[in-house]
Amino acid sequence: MLTFPILTYHKVQAIPPAPGYLCNYVLPAQFERQMAALEAWGYTSITLEQWVEIRAGRQKSPKRPIAITFDDGYRSIYENAWPVLRRHGMTATVFLVAGSIGETNHWVKDEAQEQLLNQAEIAEMSADGICFGSHTFTHRPLTALPQTEVLYELMRSRTDLETLLGQPVTSLAYPYNKHNRGVRAIARRAGYRSAVLGRGRLNARWTNPQALMRIAVDTRTTIEEFENRLCHPRFATGL
Ligand SMILES: [Zn+2]
Repeated sequence: MLTFPILTYHKVQAIPPAPGYLCNYVLPAQFERQMAALEAWGYTSITLEQWVEIRAGRQKSPKRPIAITFDDGYRSIYENAWPVLRRHGMTATVFLVAGSIGETNHWVKDEAQEQLLNQAEIAEMSADGICFGSHTFTHRPLTALPQTEVLYELMRSRTDLETLLGQPVTSLAYPYNKHNRGVRAIARRAGYRSAVLGRGRLNARWTNPQALMRIAVDTRTTIEEFENRLCHPRFATGL
């Protein structure tokens, strides 16, 4: 059976003295080891758009597809993760908060503030094959907003990012993993062909593309756990 793991990362950098949420950090050396392991285990990284085509039978799947995703769009992706991805011939999808490009993660006050990617860095990575998706316009939980606001968050971020990138933006990551049937329907209407959740297990062909599950990786994840989560779906639940 063809399974499709999607990994979630946030910041790839040294951990500051008061990180706030340790679960948002992976050390550069850990990331390097994980990407080298994926290459050694025969995984091929693909974008979510490619997965949509594969599950529809319009594109052939590599033997072991995987997606590497980053939420929020931190500059550490440019500085520390992108060089590693390049070295291992991998692509990734970065979910940007369209209204905060070049700023910091100011939507969460009790977390260490880190620099986000600016327009030039995004353009450089995009030209090199890194894919970008939407993490909404302001990173508010969509389930707490009226429908018109949800539509605004999804439309405004998509159109702004498409203008910035000069290409279609078709994937979405729900902030705080907050979604429901209504939010998913609006996401479809707003032009997203795929959307990812914060956590879960492996995906199969029949997994709803508006609710693709992801495997969260953080600095506490050992390489053995990393391998287990990829190989055994039950280990990936409840992360
Ligand atoms: Zn986020």
